[in-house]
Amino acid sequence: MDLELKPLALPGIDQDKRPTVLAGPCSAETEEQVMETARQLAAYGIHIYRAGIWKPRTKPGGFEGVGEAGLPWLRRVHEELGMLTATEVATAHHVEAALEAGIDILWIGARTMANPFAVQEVADALRGTDMPVLCKNPVNPDLELWIGGLERVNQAGIQRLAVVHRGFSTYEKRLYRNLPMWHVPIELHRRIPALPIFCDPSHMGGRRELIAPLAQQAMDLGFQGLMIETHVNPDRAWSDAMQQVTPDVLDFILDKLVIRNVSATTESLEELRKQIDSVDNALLEQLANRMRISREIGAYKKEHNMTVVQTRRYGEILSKRGAQGVLRGMSNDFVKSIFEAIHEESVRQQVEILNKD
Ligand code: PEP
Ligand code: MN
Repeated sequence: MDLELKPLALPGIDQDKRPTVLAGPCSAETEEQVMETARQLAAYGIHIYRAGIWKPRTKPGGFEGVGEAGLPWLRRVHEELGMLTATEVATAHHVEAALEAGIDILWIGARTMANPFAVQEVADALRGTDMPVLCKNPVNPDLELWIGGLERVNQAGIQRLAVVHRGFSTYEKRLYRNLPMWHVPIELHRRIPALPIFCDPSHMGGRRELIAPLAQQAMDLGFQGLMIETHVNPDRAWSDAMQQVTPDVLDFILDKLVIRNVSATTESLEELRKQIDSVDNALLEQLANRMRISREIGAYKKEHNMTVVQTRRYGEILSKRGAQGVLRGMSNDFVKSIFEAIHEESVRQQVEILNKD
């Protein structure tokens, strides 16, 4: 199903001038913190202020947001500084209270986007309004679920839609708090080219040092905007302290971003792309080769009544390949994760052989 979209059409958003930036604290904490952060951001030319009022926290007992008490603070940001304000909504009640308070932009968070009942409830509460809505990716890397959520909101008549890519959660937290898996938003863009894509490098990286490189990657991929958690005193933030930056640092990060031309493709680029296609083909051939050998090993293991996974050998492969990758200018983590995936497929194929009679 196609989405019926129209431009976000927000003052201060210039389609041709990337990136559009939403900045502000993870959570609104006090009126002073909200106002002071907003004042500093406004002074740096930021037009859109984000702050969470209702916070979906992983565990109970933590700070779950100031709730409705924070809405007048955001109103004040709008009135005194002329900024547009944005907050997260997860229930019909949130939507009604935010609309009543004159919030300019709403976003649906990653946990909510994973729940069709909740998305439908939010969508129904938005019916009849022309609110701009940003839909974050669901926590799990399920593109159909993400698009399904967008359809629910769109079918409620919301056409000023955009998405925020904030990465996907995993059991093992490595470098990133949420895995970027850039191919997912790239596929979303292929399917719905008119849909603006923002990146939230704060939640993706989970650490402030990762904001700049992730934001740069998003710009290199042609994303329209960024949502970056910004706080006057990040280390003292009541939620997500590690991933927030001061307005000063935000300005520095934005200043250093290299914005590339999205539409320009030249003949020499076409030539390079052909080379990539041919290297990819060769990679696939070699992988198929590896799997064939692996199936032969599987047949041998079956004959000798051996287990499929030989832990020591697996550990050896991972560390050797990681080191070999580093010698060739790739990151150890990257190479290891490729070989983890290859190993998983090998095991699957060997198990298939084992169970064949
Ligand atoms: C947020 O933006 O504050 C937030 C809770 O993000 P996410 O839904 O991406 O976890
Ligand atoms: Mn946060």
